[in-house]
Amino acid sequence: MNNATINHLSSEEIKVVLRAADEIIARGGRTLLAKILKGSREKKVLELELDKCPVYGAFRSETLEEITKKIDWMIDYDFLAIEYSGKLPMIVFTDRGWQIEADQRADEFLIEWEQWLDEGKIDPEMSYLKDRNREMILLFLDKIKESGNKQFIPYLELWEKIDYKKVRAEIRSTIKILESDEIIEQQSMNTRVESINKALEGLAPQDFLLKCWECGDRFTFTVEEQKLYRQKGFVHPKRCKSCRRKKRYEDYF
Ligand SMILES: [Zn+2]
Repeated sequence: MNNATINHLSSEEIKVVLRAADEIIARGGRTLLAKILKGSREKKVLELELDKCPVYGAFRSETLEEITKKIDWMIDYDFLAIEYSGKLPMIVFTDRGWQIEADQRADEFLIEWEQWLDEGKIDPEMSYLKDRNREMILLFLDKIKESGNKQFIPYLELWEKIDYKKVRAEIRSTIKILESDEIIEQQSMNTRVESINKALEGLAPQDFLLKCWECGDRFTFTVEEQKLYRQKGFVHPKRCKSCRRKKRYEDYF
């Protein structure tokens, strides 16, 4: 195993990895994620249309090994996690990772709408917004409110026609706020930005103490062990080292 440490990823790099991960959440593992970032032309990547992801090939100049180290860093620093689907280890977001990704996805949608306005697009197909993560959709609507841009109203009306009742109600209230010229309080926006910046700092791994199920002793779960466990998708050991050894011995005989 290569233990060479890598530097703290920049906020930009963290966002890039999260954006790529979003394409394969709970469907793909570290290797596939690394291939998106590398810009691989492999069959599976193209079949899943991962080459259409906006950050496809973002780390093109790096080797797959270097990219994989960045992904592992993201797992160590609590932005991504591994979960098993049957025997396959899949990438999933941690709360921290999802908080950042939901925000940047909502921004991506907003930027797209701004581009549509620039292009004078009048009847965009809105079904792409249906069945998305609800939390992210509400965040998108908040950002539309904060923009105060009335030109978005026709798009909101198109969207309102095709979505579910709960989302429709939120769209309606967004339209009302835009029509009323109400100034949105900056407070919630500032709090959100602050909390995203805090999330981007990540959580540096630390040794911590666990209590053994078997003998009740406290034992240290080291950073190195945590890395191995996380990469395998395990949470933490139940038994201390000597009880683990004893158990293996008993299982053997
Ligand atoms: Zn023990």
